[in-house]
Amino acid sequence: MIQYQGSVYRPPSEADSLILQATLGCSYNRCTFCSMYLDKPFRVRSLDDLRAEIEWARTNLGSVRKVFLADGDALVAKASFLEELLQELASAFPELRRVSIYASPQALAVRSVAEMARLREAGLTLYYLGIESGSDVVLADLKKGVGGDEMIRVALKAHEAGVKLSTMILLGAGSRQNSKEHALDSARVVNAINPRFLSTLVMTPVEGTPLFESARSGAWEELTPIELAAELRTFLAALDVKGTIFRSNHASNYLTLAGTLAKDQERLVASLDRVLADPSAAPFRPRWLRGL
Ligand code: SF4
Repeated sequence: MIQYQGSVYRPPSEADSLILQATLGCSYNRCTFCSMYLDKPFRVRSLDDLRAEIEWARTNLGSVRKVFLADGDALVAKASFLEELLQELASAFPELRRVSIYASPQALAVRSVAEMARLREAGLTLYYLGIESGSDVVLADLKKGVGGDEMIRVALKAHEAGVKLSTMILLGAGSRQNSKEHALDSARVVNAINPRFLSTLVMTPVEGTPLFESARSGAWEELTPIELAAELRTFLAALDVKGTIFRSNHASNYLTLAGTLAKDQERLVASLDRVLADPSAAPFRPRWLRGL
């Protein structure tokens, strides 16, 4: 059977995927807001262990159409290892349509375009990339390890390799002080990347992280639902992308929005304008529904 090690995280859209831990933890593990892998050191798992799990899934789960490779930045593992793993998956699951993975900017920097193209041909067609912010100031505060221009450069490598990107922006990441800059610079970076998928999450301080301490000391201020709606409005209005599917359906969001950009951009901005004009009628999700 599959022996999951420690906490396992996956994007909301991978809810019905088979999750395999190709690696454990995150090789970077320094982002100030992230507690996901503080409990486990990074390592690449053995192909023999993964083969045994794939064999168990083939025997017990029947048809598998989607696989998500965890943990935090599994793309950082050697391309030869990932290629062999993808070949095992393709031969075990004839109905397999998609394999996806979290890709940190650091992992995208080390993988060459040729390697990413080879892995795409072997089935790895979608990367989840946490852009978090396009602002250099905010990215530095978050200790993301890259600025906005480097984020664009590494993301475009994936595009050059023919890989789809699902990108995330963290609303509220710039605190109150940098909210506008965060919204506008994030739009600039997203515009340059033109990802296939874009989603927003709400920055929520988690105990045990440096961000939590900053929030407690008052150095970082959590935005109110109205301030978050205003920030999202500024961000969405500044977007200039084509064919990007937008969602704010992660549990952390106060407002659930969805649409394809640029087609639905006006409608989405107008719905936020209505929220801002009359906050008392806004369909904010209560805290218990946000799973926090
Ligand atoms: S790269 Fe991703 S998984 Fe790793 S510490 Fe940063 S946010 Fe967490």
